[in-house]
Amino acid sequence: MISKSIEDLRYSVIREMSGLAQGLPDVITLGIGEPDFHTPEMITEAAFKDAADGHTHYTHSQGDGELLKGLSVHIKKTMGIDLPPQQFLVTHGGMGSLTAAFRTLLEQGDEVLLPEPHFPDYLAHITFAGGSLNRVPTRFEEGFIPRPEALEAAITDKTRILLLNSPNNPTGAVIPGSVLDGIAKVAVKHDLLVISDEVYDALTHGDVCHESIYTRPGMAERTLVIKSFSKTYAMTGWRIGYCFGPESIIKNMLKVVNYSTACASAVGQRAALAALDLDPHVINSMRDRFSARLDLVCARLEKMQGIQVSRPNGSFYVFANIGPVLEKTGMDSREFAIGLIRSKQLVVVPGYAFGEKCDHCIRIACTVGREKLDQAMDRLQAHLTELMAG
Ligand code: PMP
Repeated sequence: MISKSIEDLRYSVIREMSGLAQGLPDVITLGIGEPDFHTPEMITEAAFKDAADGHTHYTHSQGDGELLKGLSVHIKKTMGIDLPPQQFLVTHGGMGSLTAAFRTLLEQGDEVLLPEPHFPDYLAHITFAGGSLNRVPTRFEEGFIPRPEALEAAITDKTRILLLNSPNNPTGAVIPGSVLDGIAKVAVKHDLLVISDEVYDALTHGDVCHESIYTRPGMAERTLVIKSFSKTYAMTGWRIGYCFGPESIIKNMLKVVNYSTACASAVGQRAALAALDLDPHVINSMRDRFSARLDLVCARLEKMQGIQVSRPNGSFYVFANIGPVLEKTGMDSREFAIGLIRSKQLVVVPGYAFGEKCDHCIRIACTVGREKLDQAMDRLQAHLTELMAG
């Protein structure tokens, strides 16, 4: 009765871990990756006003006309790229762009090249579209930055798409410009389409800057960039993302949006339009708070026995290596994470959710304030001490 491709799909490990903690007292959740901040008031107020004024109908499937124009101006301002509104598509979160992109670009049996660790949901999006994943491991010791030579060596005659995610979920790795240059050359040489998931673009730390592969020579005609309002503006629940790329791709993705969601939420799109005018100080202040939290967590983890950490340059995640603890105890990352929930009411995500070779890690989302994070690190430390002593 149930289709095999869906039956075989694993339920989200991230959501499963949060579910295990439900009903326990005094839980600290560093599992689901969403900012804890409220959507800035100016955005909510503008959206409510527009809703009261009648922006409650279907919009065009491509998006609210004013938002499409606003995005074109925004991308010119932030990335220096001149693109007309018809090269944009507004979707139900960045997720909607991922769904539509793979449905549009993959034929049955096509392969998607993807650096690992990776955002788990990619697997489902690609499977839904009849494709398969070709994972290319990155290394903890190299800050999880993909190597162009490794990507090139993994290409097969079925590889059609290269999927990049920088800043990365779960590692926080930001691919440097020089590496993007190398990856772009590989994509051009092997005639690959590139999907560049940049939903964490505003969340880089210290003097690290986000760069896009889209701006490299020969890439504009083969790259689809995916962005979102979710993380930058603390707007996860409004469900607005967008993508831009070659008009031929956008025109065909439009059909998927048309037949799947008809359009993204009209009120959500008005909120997004207001967000484009948000004072950059508000965004920077959220980013700075995430930076301070990452500093706190990394400083605490560095002092713990049995755990290794490399400071992320982007996002709000720390992907910590717990290999030594697992070796000592004979556990895997799932057993470790479940033990941490049961014994210390602390939720993190076990590494295996992010790829086959990630079982020696856990993902910690720094999505609670510093005081709570400090308590969370106390609990983790106590848990590790008990495990290493036993
Ligand atoms: N890409 C990555 C790497 C993500 O982590 C997420 C959300 N966790 C998304 C895309 C989708 O985000 P949204 O649909 O909320 O825009």
